[in-house]
Amino acid sequence: MNNKHKILKDIFGHEYFRSFQEEVVDSIIQKKDVLTILPTGGGKSLCYQLPTLLMDGVTVVISPLIALMQDQIKALNDLNIKAEMISSSQTNDENSFTMQKLLEGKLKFIYVAPERFTSNEFVGVLQRININYFVIDEAHCVSAWGHEFRAEYRNLDKLKRFFPDTCIAAFTATATKKVEADIASSLKLNDAKHFRAKTHRNNLDIKVEPRITNGRKQILNFLKTHKGLCGIIYTFTRKEAESTAQFLCENGYSSKAYHAGLNPSIKDEVYDDFVYEKIDIVVATIAFGMGIDKSNIRFVIHTSLPKTLENYYQEIGRAGRDGDMSYVYLLYSKADEVKRKIQIEDAIDTGYKQTGLDKLEAMYRYCVSNNCRHKIIASYFEDEIDDCKTLCDNCTKGEIEQVDVSVDAQKFLSAVYRSEQRFGTNHIIDILRGSKNQKLLEFGHDRLNVYGLGSDKSKNEWIAIADKLIDIKAVNLGEFRVLKISGLGMQILKGKEKLLIDSDKLGIAQKFEEENT
Ligand code: ADP
Repeated sequence: MNNKHKILKDIFGHEYFRSFQEEVVDSIIQKKDVLTILPTGGGKSLCYQLPTLLMDGVTVVISPLIALMQDQIKALNDLNIKAEMISSSQTNDENSFTMQKLLEGKLKFIYVAPERFTSNEFVGVLQRININYFVIDEAHCVSAWGHEFRAEYRNLDKLKRFFPDTCIAAFTATATKKVEADIASSLKLNDAKHFRAKTHRNNLDIKVEPRITNGRKQILNFLKTHKGLCGIIYTFTRKEAESTAQFLCENGYSSKAYHAGLNPSIKDEVYDDFVYEKIDIVVATIAFGMGIDKSNIRFVIHTSLPKTLENYYQEIGRAGRDGDMSYVYLLYSKADEVKRKIQIEDAIDTGYKQTGLDKLEAMYRYCVSNNCRHKIIASYFEDEIDDCKTLCDNCTKGEIEQVDVSVDAQKFLSAVYRSEQRFGTNHIIDILRGSKNQKLLEFGHDRLNVYGLGSDKSKNEWIAIADKLIDIKAVNLGEFRVLKISGLGMQILKGKEKLLIDSDKLGIAQKFEEENT
């Protein structure tokens, strides 16, 4: 048995390397720059921890979150490996003490946030010690095309300027090819080896459904059919996290809320209760989960539409890290998309705005699509995989009765056409339902002959029809989400092609409408 296999077994306690781990470890040992894209749970930490144990110096790990650093350091210390951090959560004295240990060569790992590299003192210390290599965790934060861009990560181009001979190992769970290229060029990686796992978690069973009212009945049904399992429920707001946790307790499920507004001791308690299985369910905002050290999470539920497919993929990736079958369930509504849009419009600088809106659109399209869920996710990350056939609701639902909505589709397309293909879905639905909306009246759209022609259908039924037209690309979304009719759309408009829709899609839209009125 060679050294690396011995370390894998004796120190980390694993029999075999998982896919890509050995190749990444070898490249790091050979002092090559590497960029590794492995899904959550793929075992990235081991890739950069193991080679250090075959080297004399210290490995510098750059990580965006103190909580992540703490988890990693604890895990390493538990293995009797000396790891510490320098961070704003420690006093100046503590940080100086750690720097001293670094200079004395007493540490194997030092964890720091990217902003540390703005300190000349820190860079000066690094220049005086023997660095094995730099690790950049959550490397997608480097790229403005990614979903969590952080300006401090941009400055990491300094690494190659100050340490031209030290190799860099960058890791992320989520990067499109564009983001991957951007990471490599921003960090000035030198002829880096790229490792990219397929974006496919074949132990996740995916289900997506429109949310009916607040989704609680749906959640209870899910929990009834997945009895005794432990999992995370992600909510949109802190308040919703609290009230849902309470609701679940009242219904006999042991659960607690977790969000950024809780004080640290409560957060630690919830985390420990979950990890040590005193409770089954944590109801959380997205604050929970990064770096969570629990490999047997059996389900992840989202009670509303996530911001991006990157976020979603990362969050569902927390289920089933041990490789056993796990279940993910997403509840969404059109209203979530509207809320998220407002968030993006309000919060983010204009450079990111369009990217943010496009990412949100892709997330919503994922929800309303009829295609294999695994395949949509993979193709979003520019991977090609076959339909999963057995692991998502779209592949397993079998024959669903189809309703012919061709005449409604013609009405819809006609309204798009007559309003000169300059408006979005909501405006078109307003025309069809004969709304007295101010904007509509200002444009004189109450005088169009399609005005009020669709008042027999609910708003949600129209949304279901519009979603289907977008899904099959009968209409395309232009700038500002304006609808443009495609060649296929013209065929439908002229009655030369039919539009069929799954009866359950319309059915759920109707039910949603009834329960909301
Ligand atoms: P990531 O950072 O890619 O999300 P982690 O590094 O946290 O994943 O690893 C996920 C889980 O897989 C951890 O519980 C880890 O101990 C385990 N693991 C990593 N490598 C192996 C391996 N070769 N064999 C078995 N388990 C492994």
